Order: sequence, then C-alpha cells, then structure tokens
Amino acid sequence: MRLRRLETRLPAQRAVEGDGFVVHRPFPVPGTEQVDPFLLLDQMGPVDHGPGEAVGTPVHPHRGFETVTYLLEGELQHRDSLGNEGTLGPGDTQWMTAGRGVLHEEGPTSGFLARGGRLHGLQLWVNLPASAKMIPPAYQDITADAVAVSHPSPGATVRVVAGEAFDLVGPGSTHTPITYTHVTLEPGAQVASAFDPNHTVLVFPLLGVVAVGDEVLATAELGVLGPGDAVELSVPADAASPSEILVLSGRPIGEPIARHGPFVMNTREELVQAFADVRSPEFGS
Ligand code: MN
Repeated sequence: MRLRRLETRLPAQRAVEGDGFVVHRPFPVPGTEQVDPFLLLDQMGPVDHGPGEAVGTPVHPHRGFETVTYLLEGELQHRDSLGNEGTLGPGDTQWMTAGRGVLHEEGPTSGFLARGGRLHGLQLWVNLPASAKMIPPAYQDITADAVAVSHPSPGATVRVVAGEAFDLVGPGSTHTPITYTHVTLEPGAQVASAFDPNHTVLVFPLLGVVAVGDEVLATAELGVLGPGDAVELSVPADAASPSEILVLSGRPIGEPIARHGPFVMNTREELVQAFADVRSPEFGS
C-alpha cells in the first residue's frame, strides 16, 4: 500500500453567482482551470439566512458536462427544461447531466425562503468526455436514504454518493469513473480507503480541519493528492469540533477543454456553436 500525500493546496476564493449567491470556490481560479475530470467546485455557505433573505440562480443553460449538487443543511429546489423538478434536503444529491443542453433554475424552496435558516451545500461540475458531451440530458435524484453509509472506525461516518470508496458502493451513475464521498470525523478519528492509482484524488474540509498524513488542511482549503493507491485521513485529537470532509476521485479525461460561462466543450468552434444554439427554442427541449 502506498499512501497518497498532499501535493497541492488550493484555498477557496469568494465568488458571487446568480442573484447574489456567495460561494467559496477552490477551482476554477486563475492558474487552475480544472482538476481533471472536475471543472468547478463551489461551497455554498454555511450561511444563516433570515426570513426572506435566501437567494438562488435564475434560469440559465448548461452544455457539455454534469452539475452535482449535494446539501448538508437547508432546502433547495431545482426545475429544468426537461420537466424535472425536485427538492433537496440534507444528505440529498441532484446529479444533472446537461449533455447537449438543458436550462435550469436553482434556489431556496419557498418554505426555506420564508422561514430562513442555515444553508450549507456543494456544487461540483464533472466534465463529460467528447464522446458524451452531446448525449441527451438526464437527471438523477439521489435521496439521503439511498446513499451508502458506514461507520468504519470509531468517530467516523462515511457516505458514498457515487463510485466505490471506503468499502462502499454509492448509488450515483457516472459517465467516467468517479467517486463522491462525504466523510464526518470526530476529533481524534481516522479513516482510510483504497483509491484507484489512476484517479485524481481531492480532499476538501467543509467544516473543521483534516490531516492527510502529517499535513493539515484548513477549512475550505482543497488538497490535491499525489500518487499512490490509498488515502488516510484524520482529525487532530485536540480539534474543537467534528470535521465535514468531501473526498472526490476521478479518472482524468485528458482532453482539451474550451469553456466559457455555462458551456464546457473541447474546441472553440463547439463553444461558438453552443452560444448560437442556446438562442434556439430547441435548446434544452
Ligand atoms: Mn446551473
């Protein structure tokens, strides 16, 4: 077994989306366009909204990749041009394959907007290979009770949404090999898992800190791990609170990307075509 060590640190940067939706984004940032096969990672909150304060993102298009939204706290709703509609609560995932094109809107539910409360979630963009960029759009609604859960060691909870990690297999279906795991570790707890040596592996502490070997990642500091076939994570025994950690892995796609705004294609011509197509009433239907 060869443990992966921390190779690169990407501290999240503040960005504003939609109607004033504040996110913390480790990538893309200048100098790091993607962490192949992942195109974007946003942490939404944790933020406490008063009644009437929560905001969302109005109708917008996507083409050429997938958006994966996972919620830890709060309530979001989603509606798209294919007629898919869903509500996300804590532990739920919405895995949307934009493929050749979809229009959607994302925001707080009317109940959450009225009541206010704490919102904490993630949105990940997963690239599609050239062979799948123009597939028909699709939608997976993965509820919290469908996620694979275990307690592999004292003080550790592991929830696998997709792929095989921590001896679990998640329910999500992916177009290239990807694993998506939410790990909760109490102070002093430790977990380990094998990961495919060909995968990129990312570790992102959403709350609290996490150690990869003897290197500690701060809250909202993304760690890109180096080569190896296993990952060991721990939380220092003197940490003030439990840590919530996102662990992602995926096989790099290794293709050129041409991206602008909501479209991620392989060539500039395909990007220009996407901007032309989105004006057609056919887009997203
Ligand atoms: Mn979107």
